[in-house]
Amino acid sequence: MQRDKLLMTPGPTMIPYRVRETMARQIIHHRTKEFEQYFVKMNEGLKKVFQTQYPVLTLVSSGTGGMEAAVANAFSPGDKVIAASTGVFGDRFVKIASRFGLDVDVICVPWGNGIEPEEIENRLNGPDGDKIKGVLMTHNETSTGVANNIEAIGKLLKDRDCLFIVDVISSMGGLEVKTDEWGIDIAVAGSQKAFMLPPGLAFVSVSEKAWAAIEKSRLPKFYFDFLAYRKSLLNKTTPYTTAASLVIAASEAVEMMLEEGLDNIFARHRNLGEACRAAVKAMGLQLFADEKYASDLITAIKAPEGIDIEKVRKAMNLQYDIMIAGGQQHLKGKIIRIGHMGYVDGFDLIRTLAALELSLAREGYPIEPGTSVSAALKVLKM
Ligand SMILES: *Cc1c(COP(=O)(O)O)cnc(C)c1O
Repeated sequence: MQRDKLLMTPGPTMIPYRVRETMARQIIHHRTKEFEQYFVKMNEGLKKVFQTQYPVLTLVSSGTGGMEAAVANAFSPGDKVIAASTGVFGDRFVKIASRFGLDVDVICVPWGNGIEPEEIENRLNGPDGDKIKGVLMTHNETSTGVANNIEAIGKLLKDRDCLFIVDVISSMGGLEVKTDEWGIDIAVAGSQKAFMLPPGLAFVSVSEKAWAAIEKSRLPKFYFDFLAYRKSLLNKTTPYTTAASLVIAASEAVEMMLEEGLDNIFARHRNLGEACRAAVKAMGLQLFADEKYASDLITAIKAPEGIDIEKVRKAMNLQYDIMIAGGQQHLKGKIIRIGHMGYVDGFDLIRTLAALELSLAREGYPIEPGTSVSAALKVLKM
């Protein structure tokens, strides 16, 4: 039987019918009143989702484009920044900032751990502390299943002449992010993670403090020049041809998010995270991330000894039409990652766990059928 693939990957994620339906319509021109209504609706919704009073810019790019744009707009050559990395995506910020000629002080932790706010505080209070122009980091480190304590770090930076630039690509719309209250100067989100949208858009909030830095920035940029986006936004439009279909889809997705209510969305994800971790433990498997930092949007699981975990993943995909993610870089073959972000509920998780059990059993892992499903059902609020 042909089934839709269930994507339980950390992006792209499933898309609700209401959002998909908007993309089946004939294209409309992006310089029209009709389009403007969708654009304005998306922008107003994004401000609520980001919990910011400032405009949120929409770039036609994947999340990484938003990260690059944040760096290119906020700094000048040689600026000193801290890049705190907890995995693949934290490392990406290090690479981008280095490529743009910034003076990057890298903080690394063993993968599976989070950043301790004291690490940042010590650097800020160190001898060159007042020269630090920015702190770059990841909120939800999708490669390891770690959620960093952005709130605590934001508080350290709020009254300093230092920008807090956060990759919220996989967290915005899933975990609570109080952009303004937590002092996030530039927050970069992506459409294909918790936003229930296809890939293709990056959403970027910019604080007043960040705009002051952006006006002085001397790094080259053209397509991603935030000043052009701000100017166009005043006229309710975009500087270049935007991905109109995706913007219309986004206007629908944010409406759905606001209908559900942000607090309900966060509670749903917390519950999914808790249920998934309980299920993993019940199966006798080990979590990869330190539980103190466990993300409620993605669960990374260590491959059990003697099991070819890539074969397990393949069986889930080919036999049961459920895609989960493997490990990246040195974690390839060592972990699997179950994404539970965006348009996902308890039954999607139950289906995934059942398929994981069956696939593990095929590879010889000893498991009583229903073990993880039963553990998850005890936790899930459905
Ligand atoms: C997915 C992801 C990215 C990269 O986004 P792309 O859309 O693939 O460019 C960056 N950071 C995090 C935390 C992510 O999850």
